[in-house]
Amino acid sequence: MSNFKETVLEIDLSALAHNYRYLTAKTNTATKILAVVKAFGYGSESVAVAKELETLGVDYFAVAYVAEGVALRDAGIRTPILVLHPQPINFETLIDRCLEPSIYSMRILNEFVAVAEAKKQQDYPVHIKFNTGLNRLGFREEAVSHILSALRKTDAIKTRSLFSHLVASEDLSEKEFTLGQIESFNNIATAMEEGLGYKPFLHQSNTSGILNYPQAHFDMVRTGIGLYGFGNSKAENEQLKPVATLKSVISQIHTIQPGESVGYNRAYKATGEEKTATIPIGHADGISRAFGKGVGWVTIAGKKAPIVGNVCMDMLMVNVTDIACEEGDEVIIFGENPSAEALATAIGSIPYELLTAVSQRVKRVVCRN
Ligand SMILES: *Cc1c(COP(=O)(O)O)cnc(C)c1O
Repeated sequence: MSNFKETVLEIDLSALAHNYRYLTAKTNTATKILAVVKAFGYGSESVAVAKELETLGVDYFAVAYVAEGVALRDAGIRTPILVLHPQPINFETLIDRCLEPSIYSMRILNEFVAVAEAKKQQDYPVHIKFNTGLNRLGFREEAVSHILSALRKTDAIKTRSLFSHLVASEDLSEKEFTLGQIESFNNIATAMEEGLGYKPFLHQSNTSGILNYPQAHFDMVRTGIGLYGFGNSKAENEQLKPVATLKSVISQIHTIQPGESVGYNRAYKATGEEKTATIPIGHADGISRAFGKGVGWVTIAGKKAPIVGNVCMDMLMVNVTDIACEEGDEVIIFGENPSAEALATAIGSIPYELLTAVSQRVKRVVCRN
């Protein structure tokens, strides 16, 4: 592995391709694959990731907001892009850039129809989102007749797909609830298809839904975290490969005497003669202060070096007393070891949060390992 001599987030497109193939092999060949590339591709590099996935034959992309879709279009991405959480203020841009909105409420439906009509659209593709238990975004089943009558009044939009989102697809102790969500989505789909007179395509599963609920694959699955290397279980994590490796370098090594302290507020005090290494990455780069005081660690020369004291804005210090290392040596913050999952778990978080927290200040380096 190369050593960049500064903090970088390495994005391994070979790992991405491996994960894509692993996840698609879990679905029927007819099932479409939507890749979720919101939040800069889960903190990685959305353009490089989207281009690679386009090459691999992905059917759809999803982002959360319109600006994220615009960035992909600016980079030349041609694949359809579903915008999961658009705001009316961006509807004109959304149409101008051929992005496809999630329509999640009557207010959003009416506002989108008004903009689509003003822009003289016909059959503009939209995706209708149903709330089957998450209570976050989406229409309830009872809204079906209202939606249908609103849709009948315009030819500016056309329903391309119907979708919903699972609440706890990774948690098999909530299996009964999940099966209820799947049943409810099936009922909604039947009622909508009858009213529309045609079948929009259906999708409900995120990564864990792909892995745990084949009956919820429908016509398309939406995978995010799995593409980036995490499957929400130990067994699946072993099959997937982490796409992102956060690396840094030792800036300085200090030898400190018993009683000397390290960092702000003297949060760490040496008990014997100890060696610490200062690393150029801090909470402004996405390594939360919660990792301070020994909660988090990094890997240096294959060994675990615990964080000492408080994490600073631009750097952190680790204990390297028992590690043979020098200034300029490589430091792994997360990647293979520790995994983003192990590190996130140490602060009661999840890889989703740790990956997306890596700030835009950290240079992204795309590679194929
Ligand atoms: C983020 C998101 C996904 C992706 O979920 P993963 O667990 O990362 O696979 C799928 N669908 C919706 C609606 C989302 O917001």
